[in-house]
Amino acid sequence: MPTCIFCDILAGLAPANFIHRDDLCAAFMDIRPVNPGHILVVPRTHATLVSELDEVTVGRILQVAQRVDVALRASGIKCEAVNLIISDGAAAGQEVPHVHMHVIPRFRSDGHHFRFSLAYFTRTPASELGKNAELIRIHMGG
Ligand code: 5GP
Ligand code: ZN
Repeated sequence: MPTCIFCDILAGLAPANFIHRDDLCAAFMDIRPVNPGHILVVPRTHATLVSELDEVTVGRILQVAQRVDVALRASGIKCEAVNLIISDGAAAGQEVPHVHMHVIPRFRSDGHHFRFSLAYFTRTPASELGKNAELIRIHMGG
């Protein structure tokens, strides 16, 4: 397997500022924060995509992110709101191929914005919503 920077961090082979570790997950400071206090929550086992993880680990990631969210708001770091983001695959903007949830403190004047293509501003026909719902529903399992 090619080396993975987050696996190296988890193994203690690369430095990081940890704020949490448990049997399934860890959380540490992002080296290039979008805003001060930006934290990454990662599974301790290597997986590139969320679909490769077991459901308990996926649940734990969000539980830890919730605790980080609460801690950030209490910390005194500027934090009016929080983005919880997983980019699940390279086309979604994932650069590090080890699952990670960003927990990003946000405030109104921070200057960061999502950008959408023009297609977003065209109303989607109800028939298309219905067709896509059906395509997804049949693969939901469970
Ligand atoms: P992605 O674009 O894959 O969703 O986000 C990867 C994140 O990992 C980026 O925010 C980036 O700053 C962070 N990152 C990349 N390399 C390192 C590293 O060596 N240490 C830490 N702590 N964060 C890293
Ligand atoms: Zn890894």
